[in-house]
Amino acid sequence: MPAIDQSKRFAFKVEEIPLSGIDLRAQLDSEWLAPLLPLAYTPADKPALFTGRLDRVGDSLLFNGTLEFSARYLCSRCAEGFVHEGTARMNGLYAPEEKNRTRLDDLEMDDLEDEALDDMFFYDNGIVDLEDQVANAVTISLEPFPICREECKGLCPHCGADLNVAPCKCGPEMDLRFASLAALLKEKTGKSGADKE
Ligand SMILES: [Zn+2]
Ligand SMILES: [Zn+2]
Repeated sequence: MPAIDQSKRFAFKVEEIPLSGIDLRAQLDSEWLAPLLPLAYTPADKPALFTGRLDRVGDSLLFNGTLEFSARYLCSRCAEGFVHEGTARMNGLYAPEEKNRTRLDDLEMDDLEDEALDDMFFYDNGIVDLEDQVANAVTISLEPFPICREECKGLCPHCGADLNVAPCKCGPEMDLRFASLAALLKEKTGKSGADKE
């Protein structure tokens, strides 16, 4: 990818993007990925693969990109480790700052209306830097509190037993989300709040 330099691998000089556009491709190591992941995740061993495209629309750039990555995570219910194969998609239009702007002609505006755009950005000094958008797409593609599967029973909030393995002796099975509420009810009324619904 013809980036400006290694530390700015997602930065491009707009004037160097040909009218025919360019394809983007980069491998990103775990050091790049790690700070973007929510707390429950750590990068897996294989590098992330970024592919994308920049197209010229007058003096603006239309960006489409996909980042495929793997991350290990701990299930928020049962605390077991799993691997998440993630795909983060992103697109946006990078337009020159108003003061530097030349008018887009009608044809170009028509082209743009056909595109479903997530975001519009302004660039400065003739340089478009996609890094923030790529990073942001990774972060928002992940659940802050991931679970291994919808039916995961999690750990018993009382004894810590993994209820996916076997029921424990703490009493009726209770949805984790109601556990603290049930405990509160019990405290206040002296009754068990376990008979939900
Ligand atoms: Zn789980
Ligand atoms: Zn228990």
